[in-house]
Amino acid sequence: MTNIPFNKPYSTGNEITYIAQAIAVNKLAGDGMFTKKCHEFFEKRYGFKKALLTTSCTDALEMAAILLDIKAGDEVIVPSFTFVSTANAFALRGATLVFADSQEDNPNIDPVEIKRLITPKTKAIIVVHYAGVACDMDAIMAIANAKNIPVVEDAAQAIDSFYKGKPLGSIGTFGAFSFHETKNIIAGEGGMLTINDERYIKRAEIIREKGTNRSSFFRGEVDKYGWVDIGSSFLPSDMIAAYLYAQLESLDDIQSKRKAVWQSYYDGLTALAKTTTRFKLPSIPEYAINNAHMFYLVCDSIETRTDLIAYLKQSGIHAVFHYLSLHNSQFSSEYNKMQIIPNSDRYTDCLVRLPMYYELEENSVAYIYNNIINFFKKSI
Ligand SMILES: *Cc1c(COP(=O)(O)O)cnc(C)c1O
Repeated sequence: MTNIPFNKPYSTGNEITYIAQAIAVNKLAGDGMFTKKCHEFFEKRYGFKKALLTTSCTDALEMAAILLDIKAGDEVIVPSFTFVSTANAFALRGATLVFADSQEDNPNIDPVEIKRLITPKTKAIIVVHYAGVACDMDAIMAIANAKNIPVVEDAAQAIDSFYKGKPLGSIGTFGAFSFHETKNIIAGEGGMLTINDERYIKRAEIIREKGTNRSSFFRGEVDKYGWVDIGSSFLPSDMIAAYLYAQLESLDDIQSKRKAVWQSYYDGLTALAKTTTRFKLPSIPEYAINNAHMFYLVCDSIETRTDLIAYLKQSGIHAVFHYLSLHNSQFSSEYNKMQIIPNSDRYTDCLVRLPMYYELEENSVAYIYNNIINFFKKSI
């Protein structure tokens, strides 16, 4: 029986070697040899002013919220169509969340919406590069800069992706990446904060080290270390970094394999998409690169999507839907009574993600898109 999972974490084989090395040097806590190698890799390859590994993207977002001094009464604009962590990091600081809609033709936040929602209380704008595809950053940065409002890029899905040649995560004040096992480059659980404004670097190191100036101490800048700020334990063990470093060495291979899978889906479904209005292929804006994090379709209704997922399941293919608009969640309903955020709600109901992972074979991709073709042909 065919059984194609939605995701399958890929290990290159070198992870275990590097973890053994981390154990051999007897330095298992954070900021060891492999953490340094990862930081150097990211700063060199993408030009981030500072890269700091964290235990998750969620943690990186929480660090950003602390660094921006978000407090009760502050308004933070976030997309409604996103993962809870994008919003939670700011809710934890007491912020009032202001939910923005997605664009008509892709799930990223709409700059026009951002402009409409800004008030004198707006203290941060959070954008999510959905599926690793860049938001319209020139438009967003122009709106934010005119009002002096910092932008945080939730780049959880956006490794090795670009906006007009600029690496995602390098454009806003901060970027937050994820190395969760469902992302392109993984460490089981893991993340990274990128800092693009030097003024925040020192404090970021302190917040990441439980509010102490331990990092300065180890560089010999102070002769003892102590408690200087709020903070938490945001740094990962060096064994996590060792796993991650093996992945980074294979980044180009992983990316080219995933891009080939993505392109096969796209090519396999293009002809069908031209003959029906019952689903749409993803649209990649000209300014964006596709990093092949995800392949999704947008159906014309929740019924079509439900039927398609069930049809594929019968053929052993696990396709899944994605986010549920946050403005309709049980938690946020207290301050978002009866809002309608149309594009976000449409993606909530109609978007379906297809299996996407390194080891997905070309013949499996063909099997999946042929099943999709059969489904739509049958029901036209
Ligand atoms: C995966 C993801 C996160 C959370 O990442 P973790 O590393 O699991 O904390 C946050 N935001 C978005 C958009 C994500 O896709």
